[in-house]
Amino acid sequence: MTNGFINSKRVYCDKTRYLTNIMFNRRLINGEIIVRSWLVYPLSLGVVFCEPCRIFQTSLETQLVTEGFNNWKNAISCFSYHENSKEYRDAIINLKHRERFNISNKQLQCVEIGNDKVSQIYTSLINLVQKTRDNFNEYETKA
Ligand SMILES: [Zn+2]
Repeated sequence: MTNGFINSKRVYCDKTRYLTNIMFNRRLINGEIIVRSWLVYPLSLGVVFCEPCRIFQTSLETQLVTEGFNNWKNAISCFSYHENSKEYRDAIINLKHRERFNISNKQLQCVEIGNDKVSQIYTSLINLVQKTRDNFNEYETKA
């Protein structure tokens, strides 16, 4: 019943608990389930981290950012609390900006093909950025 999370074993006074697949799912207010893609589980450590907060080195002194989180008894409420923190949201926004920048770089490499294509590529670049922004706004609205 550990679903590959055997290393996440934590013994409480009442029972032994593990990380579960359900903890990776987040239920939105509208009932939709989305995957907590920010949550990473290094197999050997048996704890989970918030990857965006670690990448952007947020000032949060939570186990999700520092030594790793394994309080499975309170995991869902702790994850929800974290998802509503300003630091987490800022890290997600930074990640989206980074992704947008990477897309731009790939597109800009194509510009060197020839001037006649520049306008066309520039237009598709703008469309890509707009689409990414729309997707992000939609995500933020649902969250
Ligand atoms: Zn975080």
